[in-house]
Amino acid sequence: MAERISHLGTETAFAVSAEAAAWKGLGNTVYPFHLGDMDLPTPENVVEAAFSAVRAGKTGYCPNAGIPELREALAAEIAATRGVACGPANVAVQPGGKPVIGKFLLALMDPGDEVLYPNPGFPIYESQIEFLGGVAKPYGFVPGRDDFLLDFEAVEAAVTPRTKLLIYNNLHNPTGAESSDEEIEALADLCLRHDLRVLSDEAYWDVRYSGRSRSIAALPGMAERTVILYTFSKKYAMTGWRLGAAIGPEDVIAHIATLNVNQESCTSHFTQWAGVEALTGDQSGAREIVRTLEERRNVAVDLLNDIPGVSCYRPEATFYLYPDVTELMDRKGLAGYEDLRRTVLEQTGVSFCTRQHFGRALPGEQRRYVRIAYSGISTALIREGLGRLKEWAQ
Ligand code: PLP
Repeated sequence: MAERISHLGTETAFAVSAEAAAWKGLGNTVYPFHLGDMDLPTPENVVEAAFSAVRAGKTGYCPNAGIPELREALAAEIAATRGVACGPANVAVQPGGKPVIGKFLLALMDPGDEVLYPNPGFPIYESQIEFLGGVAKPYGFVPGRDDFLLDFEAVEAAVTPRTKLLIYNNLHNPTGAESSDEEIEALADLCLRHDLRVLSDEAYWDVRYSGRSRSIAALPGMAERTVILYTFSKKYAMTGWRLGAAIGPEDVIAHIATLNVNQESCTSHFTQWAGVEALTGDQSGAREIVRTLEERRNVAVDLLNDIPGVSCYRPEATFYLYPDVTELMDRKGLAGYEDLRRTVLEQTGVSFCTRQHFGRALPGEQRRYVRIAYSGISTALIREGLGRLKEWAQ
């Protein structure tokens, strides 16, 4: 194997999934809170658009950066929702949001460059930085009054003359954290002072129950240094369709489009037509998805906070909860995360990921957390599963 393979990470959440499936295969009930996948159907108008496109022969190669109609629709969406001037030349369509991470780094990071990234965070950031020869510099979060706050001092302290890039996931996986206006402004100011380029991972932009999402790209001086990771996965329940986009400065996007030529030629042609319908057609399906997720959030937060030794914020976006389980673990005499996860799976059927699945623990980290994803489990099963967890805790 090539030496670089030893630096490639993975998403260990998929291993939790496999373990849960094996446990279920033995005839046990499993309550799936572990994966950020969705059990909700893609809106019917989007499905129809894909079938129509296949029948209309949209089955050949198409332009590497995406079909013009989808690039136009995405540019219009970004201009309208983020308040960033945007045209088709700012958009390179991708097979999902995830490829934007590696392509952003390939386009902008040289070996030895330092990249700031959230930890806990989506594990692919760290994997891709290290695989591509960069130096991964984690920053964490601290508990605030009713949400996690970005550990801004840690971000500042991590910057060195070699720091080139910042990865920022506002509406954050796994914590559900959302930056205040002040936090986004302070971060933008830091990027300007240190001349950092930014990957703004906006995967959960539309999975929001109240308030409004804000993009760091909209702040003065930031559009020219920010690439937005856009995805259809969560808003339209299209995780398996693999459709997303890199949206940012024309020069970076042109290079990302050349990476498309090299890596996959183009994103699936007919899927892109479904994306045009998703963005420009009837939005009632997308609204229904958010309504369902909100109901689940309400039930899950209330039940978690009712479990002795567990405390949980009520995030207004994402479909993740990140409860503090420190007291529960202490009371149960469970020292390690894997002890907790396996014991709970075997004794209650409740399956979840823990802090460990989202990066190596940072120095000084004392509280312990698990991630509860409610995107792939019905309200009735949330009640049942968390009810069992409560009984077990008691
Ligand atoms: N970014 C974050 C923070 C995510 O949680 C995910 C998926 O869970 C992605 C990006 C990538 O999603 P996709 O490749 O399905 O667009």
